[in-house]
Amino acid sequence: MNNALVTKLGGAEGIDIPAFCADAANIVRSGRPLVIVHGGSHDTNVLSEQLNHPPVFITSPSGHTSRRTDRRTLEIFQMACRGQLNQRIVEALQRRAVNAVGLSGMDGRLWEGTRKSTVRAVVDGRVMMIRDDYTGTVERVNTGLIRTLLEAGFTPVISPPAISTDSEPINVDADRAAAMTAAALGAGTLLLLSNVPGLLREFPDESTLIPTVARGEIERFAGFAQGRMKKKVLGAGEALAGGVGRVVIADARAATPITDALAGAGTAFQ
Ligand code: ADP
Repeated sequence: MNNALVTKLGGAEGIDIPAFCADAANIVRSGRPLVIVHGGSHDTNVLSEQLNHPPVFITSPSGHTSRRTDRRTLEIFQMACRGQLNQRIVEALQRRAVNAVGLSGMDGRLWEGTRKSTVRAVVDGRVMMIRDDYTGTVERVNTGLIRTLLEAGFTPVISPPAISTDSEPINVDADRAAAMTAAALGAGTLLLLSNVPGLLREFPDESTLIPTVARGEIERFAGFAQGRMKKKVLGAGEALAGGVGRVVIADARAATPITDALAGAGTAFQ
């Protein structure tokens, strides 16, 4: 499905869901197959505080930061991603006459991966082994289900969690899951929309936007990314390696974020 477009919408503050959905509606009306992926990190943080189970982040020995996902956190993550944000996006699309279908990665085994049996975290300078974490990485995408929906005129809106090989829900990174989805579908383009104009050479100075990154230069440019931006750059590299023609990291705060990113805004990896 080379004309398919996979768009991952970030969940940070400042993102205008109605504007994104109005733009998405134009894409759907133009006849281009569109798949929407989103995370829910910000909403999970807010809900975790409200439910008196505050978020905890752990750092791996190699320096990667991730959410400590015990069973209660996993439930809150599901409420935020699938219960809240997913249904908000579906509503905004339905209001614009787009027949959106909300799914989590568990539904129809859409996103399947291995649950990490142990997670290593550095606590007070010592490496701890955590065994009850519900995290993993998407390894297989049920493209048959996505194609069936697209061919019948529906617009899939997909959120974490994914499903483990043992059928447990697992917290997965939505940027990398979107990259896997785009590669598995053979999509020509993947957009990763967030609350920054793209990859910045000197975050947060928006005048230092890097307009293009060639395939062979990704590792060098990844050095400019900190925190969760690293996952986007990693996802961009994985999507290109999986055969996606172009990945764009662009601003979701624009009035027409999809159209702008397709027209050259943001950082294009190609
Ligand atoms: P979302 O939830 O929208 O997917 P994330 O918060 O995961 O977005 O990632 C985007 C964030 O990455 C930005 O808000 C910014 O704080 C951070 N970031 C770190 N380094 C950079 C960089 N070099 N360029 C742009 N953003 C960066």
